[in-house]
Amino acid sequence: MKPYCLEAIDAAKSMGASYADVRVIQYRREGLYLRNGTPGNLNFSESQGAGVRVLVGGAWGFASTNQVSKPALKEAAARAVAIAKASAQVKKQDVRLSPKPAVEDFWGTPFTIDPFKVSLEEKLGLLSRIDALLRKRPEIKVASSSLQFAREKQWYMDTDGSFLVQDLLRSGAGYSATAVGNGDCQIRSYPQSWGGNHKSMGYEIVAAYDLVGNAERIADEAIALLTAPECPSGKRDLILDGPQLALQIHESVGHPNELDRVLGFEANYAGRSFMLPELHKGPFKYGSEIVNLVADCTVPGGLATIGYDDDGVRAERFHVVQNGIHKNWFTTRETAPLVGQQASNACNRADGFNNIPITRIPNLSLMPGTWTYEDLVADTKDGIIMEVNKSWSIDQMRRNFQFGAEIGRVVKNGKITGIVKNPNYQGDTPVFWGNCDAICNQDHWDLWGVINCGKGQPGQTAEMSHGGAPTRFRNVEVGIRG
Ligand SMILES: [Zn+2]
Repeated sequence: MKPYCLEAIDAAKSMGASYADVRVIQYRREGLYLRNGTPGNLNFSESQGAGVRVLVGGAWGFASTNQVSKPALKEAAARAVAIAKASAQVKKQDVRLSPKPAVEDFWGTPFTIDPFKVSLEEKLGLLSRIDALLRKRPEIKVASSSLQFAREKQWYMDTDGSFLVQDLLRSGAGYSATAVGNGDCQIRSYPQSWGGNHKSMGYEIVAAYDLVGNAERIADEAIALLTAPECPSGKRDLILDGPQLALQIHESVGHPNELDRVLGFEANYAGRSFMLPELHKGPFKYGSEIVNLVADCTVPGGLATIGYDDDGVRAERFHVVQNGIHKNWFTTRETAPLVGQQASNACNRADGFNNIPITRIPNLSLMPGTWTYEDLVADTKDGIIMEVNKSWSIDQMRRNFQFGAEIGRVVKNGKITGIVKNPNYQGDTPVFWGNCDAICNQDHWDLWGVINCGKGQPGQTAEMSHGGAPTRFRNVEVGIRG
C-alpha cells in the first residue's frame, strides 16, 4: 500500500499542500443476530477505500475514494486540494498543527482467537442455546442475541514523515430479554444493553463473559420487574454498576471534555460544554478527591485502543480529572495549541476512510478504589443500586442529566432487600461527581464498550470504552416521575 500512499502525498504536495495525510483502510465485518430463534440480518461485508486530507493556504480540504489505485488516489488528492483552496477564502484563521515525531511503525490488536476463523455453526449454535434459555418462560416475548466482529487494516502516511500500519480487531457479544405482562413491559440485558459488551480482542470475548450461564437469571429478572414496585422518589445513596457508570462517564465527562465542543467548533448532538477555558483561571473541581478519570488508548481491550490516532500521534494515557481536579481536555494536533498544550493527546479519529477525523472521546475510565462490593453494600444505610443503562438525557452544556437503568436493587441497613422497576436519577455534573465517596477495587473493574457514539456533520460513529467498578454517590435525587 505504501506506493499508493506516496502517490496521494506527492500529488497533494505538487499541487501546493503545505501538509497532507492519507489513510487507506480495508474493513471486514460480521454481524450475527438472533431474534426469537430466527436468524435475521446476517451481515458479512468487506470494503476498502482511502481518504486524503490536506492543508492549503491554512485551510483543510478532504476527499475520499473507494478505489484503491494510483489514479484514484491522485484524483482524491486533487479534489482535497481544490476544497482546501475554496475553504481558505472563508477561513477565520490559519490552521496550525502542533509538532509530532516522524515515525514508521506497525501496531496490531493483541488477540487469541480470530473470530473470522470460528465456524458459523459454532456461532449460531451459541446464540441458539442462549435464545432457548431466554425464552423458557412464556412471559418473555422477545429474546435478542448477537455476535459482532470487525477487522480494520489501516495504512497511514503524512508529509511530516510518518508511515503507520495498524491492524485492529473488535469483538462483541450480548443479549436481552423483554418480558410482557401485568400491563407492563420490562427488559434485561447481559453483559450490558445496546448490543452487549465489545472489546478490542478476538473470539475469546465469548468465554470472558458467562453468556449461557447468565441467560436464565436475566430472563427471570425481566419477568420479576413486571410486578416489582416503582423506584422510590427522593434523595438516596446511589450505587452504579460498571455498565451504568460507563454511560455516566461517557455523557458527563467524555463529551464535555472534547476540546472542539469546548471551543464551540462543534455543536451537534447536545454539542456544547460547560467546561470552558475561563473556568481554568484556578483549579476546577470536577469531583471528589477519590475521582480519578483517566484517558487511555493503550489499555488492553479498549475499543479506542490503537497505536496511533488519525493525526499519526502515538496513543497515550493521561488524567482528565486527577484527585477531583480537572487536568486535560481531549485534543488534536490542530486544537492542542489553542489551549497551550505542547502536543496533541491523540484524540483525532475518523469514522472510516470517507470522513475527515474529528475530536473523539478516547477510552476514559474511573480508576478503581479500595472497596469490596460486599463492604460497599454493607456500608450503605439507605440506597439503591442501579444496573445497566436503559435511557439517557443531558442538556446542551452537558451539565444537567437524567439517566435510567434496567433494574434497581434497594439497600436498607447494609442489605439488599428487593428490586424496583424503572429506576432513574438526575444530577448536575460537578455536584454529582463531587458526591462520589466510594469506589470498588480492581477485582470489580471492567471495560464497557460504546459502539454508537454519534458526532459531527455529516454524522460519524466512533467506538470507545469506559472502565469502572461499582461506585457510590451520596445524596442523589432518584425516582423522578413524568
Ligand atoms: Zn457519545
